[in-house]
Amino acid sequence: MSDCIFCMIGRGEIPASVVYEDDEVLAFDDIAPQAPVHTLIIPRAHYATVADGVPPETMLRVIEAIPRVAEAKGVAGSGYRVIINTGPDAAQSVHHFHVHVLGGKPMAEGMV
Ligand code: 5GP
Ligand code: ZN
Repeated sequence: MSDCIFCMIGRGEIPASVVYEDDEVLAFDDIAPQAPVHTLIIPRAHYATVADGVPPETMLRVIEAIPRVAEAKGVAGSGYRVIINTGPDAAQSVHHFHVHVLGGKPMAEGMV
């Protein structure tokens, strides 16, 4: 999608602090971090949400990027939280499927 900000980042048209990349996925630091480590993982191809028909191979590549990001950001041992906001009740604000990886500090118990 030409006007999707994460598509533009995926194409290298908008700068981002890249943590990990391969032919299928890109991981970059969130512009407004909610924790000392806050990295987003996206497929380069556009899917609006996790429920938007992401092909299994692409989904696998996104998931495989999670521990790679954790290693690169130094939180593999201390732990991290993985969030996929989906739709209005989750306040999804960028409608290009992405995975948040958050860590670097103890986080509250529970999910929300
Ligand atoms: P959502 O609320 O959709 O799950 O998360 C979208 C995330 O994208 C937010 O945490 C927001 O800070 C981040 N974000 C939005 N625009 C940009 C951008 O241009 N660059 C980067 N690196 N992150 C962005
Ligand atoms: Zn997109």
